Amino acid sequence: MRKKATREKIFPKIRYKRAPIWTYFLLWCVGIYCKIRFGLRYNRDQIKAVKKIKGPIVILSTHPSPMDTVTTANAILSKRPSMLSSRMLYYYRVYRLMIKALKNTIPKKQYLTDIECIRHIKKMIDAKVSVLIFPEGRESIDGNFQGFTDALGKLIKWLRVPVVSIHSPGCFLTRPRWLPGFRIGRIETEVKILLNADEVDTLTAEEINSRVRAAIDYNDFDWQARNKVEFKSKEFKRAESLFRILYKCPACGAEYKNISDGDELRCTECGNRVVVGPYGEMTALDGGVSLPRIDKWYRYQQDMLLEEIKRKGQDYSISTEVKRAEYDWDKLKFVYKESGVLTLTLVGFEFVGDTRKIQFVRPNNPPAIHSDLYFEKIILFLEDDPHEFTCTGYERPAKFNQVVQAMSSAFPTELRKKQPQST
Ligand SMILES: [Zn+2]
Repeated sequence: MRKKATREKIFPKIRYKRAPIWTYFLLWCVGIYCKIRFGLRYNRDQIKAVKKIKGPIVILSTHPSPMDTVTTANAILSKRPSMLSSRMLYYYRVYRLMIKALKNTIPKKQYLTDIECIRHIKKMIDAKVSVLIFPEGRESIDGNFQGFTDALGKLIKWLRVPVVSIHSPGCFLTRPRWLPGFRIGRIETEVKILLNADEVDTLTAEEINSRVRAAIDYNDFDWQARNKVEFKSKEFKRAESLFRILYKCPACGAEYKNISDGDELRCTECGNRVVVGPYGEMTALDGGVSLPRIDKWYRYQQDMLLEEIKRKGQDYSISTEVKRAEYDWDKLKFVYKESGVLTLTLVGFEFVGDTRKIQFVRPNNPPAIHSDLYFEKIILFLEDDPHEFTCTGYERPAKFNQVVQAMSSAFPTELRKKQPQST
């Protein structure tokens, strides 16, 4: 039985107060660095207007990459808000230290409805502390807006405070999920006072959702093409690691056969070659086949999967060989346990290993999984216990994520009830 004290080491008690000044001073310093290094810009008039709002506010920010925590925090320094953070981050020492320093961070169970988190938000607003929410609930994989749950409008109406939106084009392309580092281009953080308290009262939840969607909908690749912003790195060529998300060849349909070669993505099955241009555009070489852009290629894969899953229904499954690690509550880190196979069907995830067989619920709110594209990891939860699966293929986490999404689109509700409970 896990001791309560151990749990509290991971999830510290939440303080319903503004974050300490020194933490936001540090974030401000990081912001200065980002301005110099990554070309970060702000619309300062709106930042000044937000500063003048008396009382707590709800801040809704897009979540294209880890970078936006800094860009967003710098836009609302005056509020020193409480930030919603994935419970997953609490399990890693470095993130846990940052969360503990802020003292008022609210943990959120990703991909599941979390009533406890909602209660914390309400208590924070009642204590006159602003709250920063990332409505998408996960980082983008393809540089596109990931959507949010319809419950957001109801939550905003319940809280009855002004709403500010923040959106940072360029954030995703500075630090895309498939790269282990940064590229230099430009980031334009746009702050907007979206709703005043009266509008929150008079508009319906659906109208509020529409306003929010219109304010924070984004596509970094569209923005890049429109503004002709190039993202450069001495270390990473344009197609570096792209095979981690673009796993399907549009010429022969083969999967897991693409490799990166400088600015080119090449299929080792049929030899199809595609070159990535300075503004994200993709062009086929030697009469080959390509999609016009990285995000459109990713979408093509999603569409193909959706079609396949609709066609096969209960017969669809995807498997990968994995190494399973469990969270050790004494050492407070992941510890390797065994090898096995992880399978996903409409019913849910199942791991069959050398010693154990474990079933996991398929996340559905939003439909996505914890994944690390660079270290090829998928993380699934049994209550508070995370299990970390290191895949054998570079592309598996991205494909599993797309499968979860496609399953949810193909069969939105009826199959959820049949999913296994955590065992
Ligand atoms: Zn091919």
